[in-house]
Amino acid sequence: MTTPEAETGPALEELRLAALLRQAPLEFARVVYGLNDRANGRAGTMAAEDVARTVRQGSLVTRERAEQRARGYLPLAGHEHCPRCWVFNGVKTPLHFRDATEERPESAVCKVCGAEYATALD
Ligand SMILES: [Zn+2]
Repeated sequence: MTTPEAETGPALEELRLAALLRQAPLEFARVVYGLNDRANGRAGTMAAEDVARTVRQGSLVTRERAEQRARGYLPLAGHEHCPRCWVFNGVKTPLHFRDATEERPESAVCKVCGAEYATALD
Protein backbone atom coordinates (compact mmCIF):
# COMPACT_ATOMS: atom_id res chain seq x y z
CA MET A 1 0.00 0.00 0.00
CA THR A 2 1.50 3.29 -1.06
CA THR A 3 0.57 6.67 0.28
CA PRO A 4 -1.42 9.00 -1.98
CA GLU A 5 1.50 11.42 -1.92
CA ALA A 6 3.70 8.84 -3.60
CA GLU A 7 1.31 8.37 -6.51
CA THR A 8 2.03 11.43 -8.55
CA GLY A 9 3.45 12.12 -11.97
CA PRO A 10 4.00 9.60 -14.73
CA ALA A 11 3.64 6.58 -12.43
CA LEU A 12 0.11 7.58 -11.56
CA GLU A 13 -0.76 8.11 -15.21
CA GLU A 14 0.58 4.69 -16.07
CA LEU A 15 -1.50 3.07 -13.34
CA ARG A 16 -4.59 4.84 -14.58
CA LEU A 17 -4.02 3.85 -18.19
CA ALA A 18 -3.25 0.24 -17.24
CA ALA A 19 -6.41 0.08 -15.13
CA LEU A 20 -8.55 1.50 -17.94
CA LEU A 21 -7.01 -0.75 -20.57
CA ARG A 22 -8.08 -3.75 -18.50
CA GLN A 23 -11.67 -2.50 -18.67
CA ALA A 24 -12.06 -2.58 -22.44
CA PRO A 25 -12.34 -6.41 -22.73
CA LEU A 26 -14.72 -6.39 -19.75
CA GLU A 27 -16.95 -3.88 -21.53
CA PHE A 28 -16.86 -6.07 -24.61
CA ALA A 29 -18.02 -8.95 -22.41
CA ARG A 30 -20.88 -6.73 -21.17
CA VAL A 31 -21.94 -6.13 -24.77
CA VAL A 32 -21.99 -9.89 -25.39
CA TYR A 33 -23.96 -10.53 -22.20
CA GLY A 34 -26.33 -7.70 -23.03
CA LEU A 35 -26.99 -8.95 -26.55
CA ASN A 36 -27.53 -12.50 -25.27
CA ASP A 37 -29.83 -11.32 -22.51
CA ARG A 38 -31.96 -9.35 -24.97
CA ALA A 39 -32.08 -12.28 -27.37
CA ASN A 40 -33.25 -14.51 -24.55
CA GLY A 41 -35.92 -12.19 -23.21
CA ARG A 42 -33.95 -10.90 -20.24
CA ALA A 43 -34.16 -7.20 -21.07
CA GLY A 44 -33.92 -6.14 -17.45
CA THR A 45 -30.30 -7.00 -16.76
CA MET A 46 -27.81 -4.17 -16.44
CA ALA A 47 -25.90 -5.29 -19.50
CA ALA A 48 -29.12 -5.55 -21.53
CA GLU A 49 -30.12 -2.07 -20.42
CA ASP A 50 -26.74 -0.68 -21.46
CA VAL A 51 -27.26 -2.19 -24.90
CA ALA A 52 -30.83 -0.85 -25.03
CA ARG A 53 -29.69 2.67 -24.15
CA THR A 54 -27.09 2.58 -26.89
CA VAL A 55 -29.66 1.40 -29.43
CA ARG A 56 -32.02 4.20 -28.38
CA GLN A 57 -29.21 6.65 -29.11
CA GLY A 58 -29.25 5.41 -32.66
CA SER A 59 -26.18 3.17 -32.64
CA LEU A 60 -26.15 -0.34 -33.95
CA VAL A 61 -24.71 -2.66 -31.30
CA THR A 62 -23.02 -5.76 -32.62
CA ARG A 63 -20.55 -8.17 -31.13
CA GLU A 64 -18.13 -7.56 -34.00
CA ARG A 65 -18.09 -3.79 -33.62
CA ALA A 66 -17.72 -3.99 -29.88
CA GLU A 67 -14.85 -6.44 -30.20
CA GLN A 68 -13.07 -4.20 -32.69
CA ARG A 69 -13.49 -1.18 -30.47
CA ALA A 70 -12.36 -3.04 -27.36
CA ARG A 71 -9.18 -4.00 -29.20
CA GLY A 72 -8.70 -0.46 -30.41
CA TYR A 73 -9.30 1.24 -27.08
CA LEU A 74 -6.33 3.50 -26.48
CA PRO A 75 -6.69 6.03 -23.68
CA LEU A 76 -4.23 8.93 -23.69
CA ALA A 77 -2.75 10.27 -20.50
CA GLY A 78 -4.62 13.38 -19.50
CA HIS A 79 -7.37 12.69 -22.06
CA GLU A 80 -8.67 9.34 -20.85
CA HIS A 81 -12.01 8.39 -22.36
CA CYS A 82 -14.68 6.08 -21.04
CA PRO A 83 -14.21 2.40 -22.00
CA ARG A 84 -17.95 1.72 -21.84
CA CYS A 85 -19.00 4.62 -24.07
CA TRP A 86 -16.27 3.67 -26.48
CA VAL A 87 -16.96 -0.06 -26.68
CA PHE A 88 -20.76 0.25 -26.72
CA ASN A 89 -21.16 3.40 -28.73
CA GLY A 90 -17.88 4.36 -30.39
CA VAL A 91 -17.97 7.67 -28.56
CA LYS A 92 -15.05 9.24 -26.72
CA THR A 93 -16.45 10.59 -23.48
CA PRO A 94 -13.90 12.19 -21.15
CA LEU A 95 -13.52 10.54 -17.75
CA HIS A 96 -13.38 12.50 -14.52
CA PHE A 97 -11.09 11.29 -11.79
CA ARG A 98 -12.40 11.16 -8.25
CA ASP A 99 -9.65 11.48 -5.70
CA ALA A 100 -9.00 8.73 -3.21
CA THR A 101 -10.46 9.15 0.25
CA GLU A 102 -10.03 7.24 3.49
CA GLU A 103 -12.87 4.93 2.47
CA ARG A 104 -12.16 4.33 -1.18
CA PRO A 105 -9.40 4.39 -3.79
CA GLU A 106 -9.28 6.80 -6.69
CA SER A 107 -11.77 6.11 -9.42
CA ALA A 108 -12.62 7.35 -12.89
CA VAL A 109 -16.23 8.34 -13.50
CA CYS A 110 -18.17 8.82 -16.74
CA LYS A 111 -20.94 11.38 -16.50
CA VAL A 112 -22.62 10.14 -19.66
CA CYS A 113 -23.11 6.42 -19.03
CA GLY A 114 -22.50 6.36 -15.28
CA ALA A 115 -19.60 3.91 -15.41
CA GLU A 116 -17.12 4.09 -12.56
CA TYR A 117 -13.75 2.39 -12.63
CA ALA A 118 -11.25 1.90 -9.84
CA THR A 119 -7.95 3.22 -11.14
CA ALA A 120 -5.65 2.11 -8.35
CA LEU A 121 -4.06 -1.29 -8.28
CA ASP A 122 -5.46 -3.54 -5.58
ZN1 LIG B 1 -19.24 6.33 -20.43
